[in-house]
Amino acid sequence: MKDCIFCKIINKQIPAKIVFENEDVVAFHDINPKAKVHVLIVPKEHREGLSALKKDDALSVGKLMVNIPAVAKQVNLKDFRVVINNGKEAGQTVFHLHVHLMSCDGLLA
Ligand code: AMP
Ligand code: ZN
Repeated sequence: MKDCIFCKIINKQIPAKIVFENEDVVAFHDINPKAKVHVLIVPKEHREGLSALKKDDALSVGKLMVNIPAVAKQVNLKDFRVVINNGKEAGQTVFHLHVHLMSCDGLLA
């Protein structure tokens, strides 16, 4: 998706501190961390957010979820918090679906 910052990171058009990548997802450190460890996990297929999902997206969203433990292991998190902001009021600022994976000191308001 043109003009999507996370698509640009996926396509290596802009730099990010990538910690994990496979055929389905990319995970990288949040540029403005809200916890000691704060990474974002994004599906390679662009979706605006949870509200934009259709039934047919079940597989790609499932792939996003099943990769969380592998990313957590990569950044040495045994226990962790996961947040998905959906919509402006909820604090979503980047409209490419993403999971915030944080150490337990972090909490997104
Ligand atoms: P949200 O507010 O839920 O949409 O989350 C977007 C997150 O993306 C925020 O925590 C930002 O700090 C983070 N972010 C924005 N631009 C970048 C970037 N270029 N690299 C890494 N993280 C970013
Ligand atoms: Zn995108």
